[in-house]
Amino acid sequence: MSSTLLTDNRIPPEHLMGKYYTHEYTYNEYPHKSLWSSSFDHEDVKGAYRALAKSDEGGSQMLFVNVPFCEHQCLFCICYTIITRDYPSIQRYIHSLCDEMKLYRDFCEEISFTPDVREIHIGGGTPTILQRPEFDQVIDSIYSLTSRDKLLRFSLEIDPRTVTPEDLEYYAGKGIDRISFGIQDFDPKVQRAIARIQPVELLENLLTPEIRGRFVGFNFDVLCGLPRQTRESFRKTLELTLQFTPDRIMLMFLNYCPDAQPHQRHMKEEEFPSLEMKWEMFGEAIERLLQAGYVRIGFDHFALPGDDLVEALRTKTMHWNSLGYRPAPCLDMIPFGAGSLGRITEDYYVQNIAPIDEYQKTVAQGRFPVAKGHHLNHDEKLRQHVIKTLRCYMSVEMKEVEEKYGIEFKPYFTKELQRLNAHVEDGLVHVTDDAIQITPLGLTFTAQICGAFDAHIPENNS
Ligand code: SF4
Repeated sequence: MSSTLLTDNRIPPEHLMGKYYTHEYTYNEYPHKSLWSSSFDHEDVKGAYRALAKSDEGGSQMLFVNVPFCEHQCLFCICYTIITRDYPSIQRYIHSLCDEMKLYRDFCEEISFTPDVREIHIGGGTPTILQRPEFDQVIDSIYSLTSRDKLLRFSLEIDPRTVTPEDLEYYAGKGIDRISFGIQDFDPKVQRAIARIQPVELLENLLTPEIRGRFVGFNFDVLCGLPRQTRESFRKTLELTLQFTPDRIMLMFLNYCPDAQPHQRHMKEEEFPSLEMKWEMFGEAIERLLQAGYVRIGFDHFALPGDDLVEALRTKTMHWNSLGYRPAPCLDMIPFGAGSLGRITEDYYVQNIAPIDEYQKTVAQGRFPVAKGHHLNHDEKLRQHVIKTLRCYMSVEMKEVEEKYGIEFKPYFTKELQRLNAHVEDGLVHVTDDAIQITPLGLTFTAQICGAFDAHIPENNS
């Protein structure tokens, strides 16, 4: 990514927003998971793991462990969650989750494969809903798959409303070295409108210097476009955020999709900031973060210069997946828990069964609880590589793709390059003899620019 892009906070004019800001694919995966096959089953997953055992791709693995339970429904949320206070049902789930990890470990032993696990992420939902006996069970299962001293990163999503400083000490004692907080907004009026009350004092009590010293880093998620946000209130949220100096900040837009997430209808549409105001707040926030010394990574990630994501950007060893930007070396993500997504070698995507009962029943039968998956062909791998490279670095070098995939870039992507002509004319992309480069103005439309290489979008095939 060029230094101009790193320091640019330009928001495109309205006519370009209307023209290009159309579909919402984020390209965490390519092809999109809606296209994966539901006939992908237990035997296919085994095949994928056998391929992983033989893979010479050179990456190691990350384990993604999902705890999809929350006590309350936050109105903005788009995660897969089950709202419950029935702790015995959570205990039963944890039992299945640990059995699933055992299933994986036993299968690895059966095929004489020693996984090279270097990273763990426990997400949700609210993993911090777990009481210590259940959390210990999860940790023990994880450490049956890897040894603690091999790990490069071990991260946990924290709901600050569910933890005490002692809990954070306990997590650190278990080897967790990075913690992520869903902040969204510090303004009490906004917090009431999204049904997530967490006063700033809660964070102050948790993030004492002693506690901070126990972790390598921590992340804040901040959401733009929430009901009752104003430019002034959002500025204050950002200033409060900066006072904590999180190592990473994800500054995202609210994804408002009430048809898919009916609870979002409880937010009052008349209280949403206008589109124009939303973009102004976002632009101003970028400016402030850059001024505070954060490095912009992609469209909406920011990190302090010492963070390993910034190093990954510099050394071009970054990945992009459903958790956002990730530093090397874990290319593969092994999924555990209901609804989890995985990438197994360059060739396979899988997603676990989401309904809890069905998930638990399948694990109890000794079968990998897969709901769907996809075996990528050569063309899809090539397109995935181009899209991910664009997402990570805002540019792609044609020669690198040609050497990796044995194609001639321009003839292979004639139609795709034609599709980019309009973007070029509008100043969003530069196409030279040997590279495609997204411009500062085009940064907002990265996903849409990636869409030019998506062979599955109906308009691309008409
Ligand atoms: S935002 Fe987090 S705590 Fe709130 S409902 Fe979603 S997953 Fe649960």
